[in-house]
Amino acid sequence: MDKCLTDFSGWLKRGDFFVLVEVPLPEERADVPVFEGILRRMQSVLASRPGLKAGIAFTDNSAERSSDFSMFFKDLSPALKSQSLFYLSGRGNSLGNLALQVESLKRLEFFNVVPVTGESRASLRKPGAGHARVPYLDSVHMIEKLSGLAAGAFCCGSAVNPFKYSPEETYTQYYKLMKKFKAGAAFAVAQAGWDMKKLQELRWFLEMRDCHAPTLARMMVLTPELSEEIFACAHPGLMVSEDIRGILREENKYGYAQFASAQWRRLQIMAAGARLLGYSAVQVAGVERPEHAESVLAKIAEALEEFRTFEEWRAEYQNHLSRAEPSPFPFSYYMFENLFQWQYPEGCLKVRDPRGCGLGTWEKIRYEICSLLLSKAHRQVPEEHYFSKKLLVKCRGCKYCRVSLTQFVCPETCPKGLANGPCGGSFAGGLCEFRDRKCIYGQIFRNALWKKEVGSLEDRIVKPVE
Ligand code: SF4
Repeated sequence: MDKCLTDFSGWLKRGDFFVLVEVPLPEERADVPVFEGILRRMQSVLASRPGLKAGIAFTDNSAERSSDFSMFFKDLSPALKSQSLFYLSGRGNSLGNLALQVESLKRLEFFNVVPVTGESRASLRKPGAGHARVPYLDSVHMIEKLSGLAAGAFCCGSAVNPFKYSPEETYTQYYKLMKKFKAGAAFAVAQAGWDMKKLQELRWFLEMRDCHAPTLARMMVLTPELSEEIFACAHPGLMVSEDIRGILREENKYGYAQFASAQWRRLQIMAAGARLLGYSAVQVAGVERPEHAESVLAKIAEALEEFRTFEEWRAEYQNHLSRAEPSPFPFSYYMFENLFQWQYPEGCLKVRDPRGCGLGTWEKIRYEICSLLLSKAHRQVPEEHYFSKKLLVKCRGCKYCRVSLTQFVCPETCPKGLANGPCGGSFAGGLCEFRDRKCIYGQIFRNALWKKEVGSLEDRIVKPVE
């Protein structure tokens, strides 16, 4: 099947605004019958909303990687498959298993896919073992493989987290996104967040780069429990500011009904805003029951009617925040100076300098020594300069050395072993998703900036160690 023949890809192509309801695959086989029941009811809810285009985003967070998804989708209609998106996780996956998964998706006629590196979960780590080395597939390689294994069959997407507040994190997210477009992605899905300026920043960045790929915005319907989990950093990559935290706690003071109604209103404002900022769809997470999916669709349809212009919407969004700051730090970095002044950049993008990204003296000396000794490491046998590598880059003795391609920061010092850009899971201040180190991409970006080589962060696809 041609990748433009699914309903989903047709909506993207025509610019029809639509909604995806996020449904996780069951983690245990024993839960499959319950999942099937939810799907059946979800199917009838989505089919009964002719006014608003809608589908499902299936996510896979299970600890064991399946290679055959057929057990989950016995009763799913071909129409709903055509309208749905499937997230393939790289956690605990391998290229061999990915090939089997691709075959399974083809047989099931799921052609809209987003490969993601996958997030760490404390439950997967052995007690006392720190971060156990669960293997991760890099999403860039997954997209490349998917395009190679099934040329033209899939409409492939890319995940990106625009809710980053330092220049290092912001730029490396966007460079990786561009790399994924080069590898074959056709659209992008933004991670959930509550700062609409950051959603606008992503759209403006793509405009600046003359990239017209469609974007989807992921949003979350919060429960009091879920918001407490987010405050406790249990969800990598999700950040809320102190002010938003205060608002959520205030909303929770008067009972569940009040809290829920505040969340619906927030979802309405954010979904309408996403459409006005140029997003093609919203993907709504946290919808636990099919009845809630019905409310999501009804509320979003209402909001799309309510907000017709950017100015009207901006006034309501700012009023809703009532001077609360959605960014989590007082000195947050936004790539453009004039965000929110206009709906679209109007040809006058003012890019802010990435300040505070300089290198210290020792970092420069270390870089120069590495450059002298290791600049051809990717072409040499791994044993060459082994002791220098051990000393300078904490060498782990891989069969194929990549330090010369990653600004002399060994990708194996990232717990996911990522060599093509960061995952979206870092926490405030660039703290790694595993919370035991800084994300290595801060150093990689600062090195590249010093050497004026930031272009390599989006141009070069670094091969995996086989
Ligand atoms: S070092 Fe960075 S890219 Fe690697 S797991 Fe941590 S946050 Fe993600």
